[in-house]
Amino acid sequence: MATPAPATFAQLLEHAVNEPGVLSSAYRLFYGYSLGNVLLALSQCMARGIQPGPIATFQRWKELGRFVRRGEKAITPCRPVTVKRTTTADDGTEETHRATWFVYRSFWFVLAQTHGKPLPITAPPSWDATRALAALKVQEVEFASLDGNTLGYAQGRTIAVNPVNPLPHKTRFHELAHVLLGHTAEGEQHDGELTPRNLRECEAESVALLCCAALELPGIEYSRGYIQAWWGKGNPIPEKSAQRILKVADQILRAGREQSAADDQGVA
Ligand SMILES: [Zn+2]
Repeated sequence: MATPAPATFAQLLEHAVNEPGVLSSAYRLFYGYSLGNVLLALSQCMARGIQPGPIATFQRWKELGRFVRRGEKAITPCRPVTVKRTTTADDGTEETHRATWFVYRSFWFVLAQTHGKPLPITAPPSWDATRALAALKVQEVEFASLDGNTLGYAQGRTIAVNPVNPLPHKTRFHELAHVLLGHTAEGEQHDGELTPRNLRECEAESVALLCCAALELPGIEYSRGYIQAWWGKGNPIPEKSAQRILKVADQILRAGREQSAADDQGVA
């Protein structure tokens, strides 16, 4: 069977936003890996009709007392890389081309492709906001806005969450994302290109949605509505933003997790 064409991160993100249940089950299974790879591995399992489950390299399965079945083809998560190339024509004019190709990383096998000793059941390690904030060097300060409609805000490397906010965890992810995406630094420095406000809100809320989905916290419906209100329904998220969103959500999830052996297996 032909391996399906790899999806872009923008497509993977869109799928995760529209079907957050898929992301939460994937996170449970693959939390040791980066979110981008989690989504890639899951999409390959689904495309090839393999029961999604924990993934490991051939060698790692061997260490766990399990063996890859004969004839099983590896899952090969890959990552799209966009490069710009400038070529000079005979008459001296320069032309810039953009090309995207896919870099293949490790070769993984899913539990269902192996046999041997039963695998101990493990749950994802718990996530803690205080631990995440400390690791990310972001300070949460007392909410000092007089505007009762404001749910939270971010300034420099500080964030604040309105104490009457019904979904404080979602706003915390959102404000943390503004800091980690560099939006608050942009506001202070006023140099370089500014990310348009609607894209900033779409990026920060997408991070919040991914974190809520992965940790099975409420608020996903509100997040989706917020993203659609700022960015427009069906409007594709730029690939560069999708990659930034996945990277920052991953950073937040990793920073708040208890250190676990599975994290060592993480790639990319
Ligand atoms: Zn915001």
